[in-house]
Amino acid sequence: MKILFIGPPGSGKSTQVKLLAEYLNLPYISTGDIFRNLAQEDHEEGKRIKQILDAGQLVDDETVIKLIKKKVAQTDCQNGFILDGYPRNLEQASKLTGVNFDKAFYLKLPKKEVLRRLLKRGRTDDTEESIRKRLDLYYQQTQSLIDYYTSLGILVEIDATRDIQTVQDEIKKFI
Ligand code: AMP
Repeated sequence: MKILFIGPPGSGKSTQVKLLAEYLNLPYISTGDIFRNLAQEDHEEGKRIKQILDAGQLVDDETVIKLIKKKVAQTDCQNGFILDGYPRNLEQASKLTGVNFDKAFYLKLPKKEVLRRLLKRGRTDDTEESIRKRLDLYYQQTQSLIDYYTSLGILVEIDATRDIQTVQDEIKKFI
């Protein structure tokens, strides 16, 4: 089973991905985790990634695509996997056309609630400035992804305003 998740920062996407990965006994790939770890490494590439994250920008498509292709080709992904944070835009989606996804879950959350949750979370890359930038980018790029996976007939929209377990139970109904 190959699954991907789309959702704004603060939608609980990572939490839902981890729970579902455990339930289905599948590996998950979180590009955000990978880049946050890279940003702590003491080399040129690490520093470059750190600057991008601190500025609330997206890592360039070329870097992300190379990384994700390598990951999904690994042996532990042969029976399926769950993607958290990829694709972020149509360009990235178009590079994975060889992968037949079963479901694309869209965790839907109003912008007002996104802001409230992120300010409460207070992760180091969650300054008000970087949140605002990430949100603007997110709303610019997500609609095209939603349209794309809808046209493939695999989009499932989930109301992410509810508590963790309720959201997870609803996701499972579509598996
Ligand atoms: P996330 O935890 O998914 O919000 O990702 C944290 C940060 O990692 C983002 O703000 C981006 O800078 C970077 N990132 C994660 N996934 C991607 C992606 N698919 N494309 C570009 N940048 C990404």
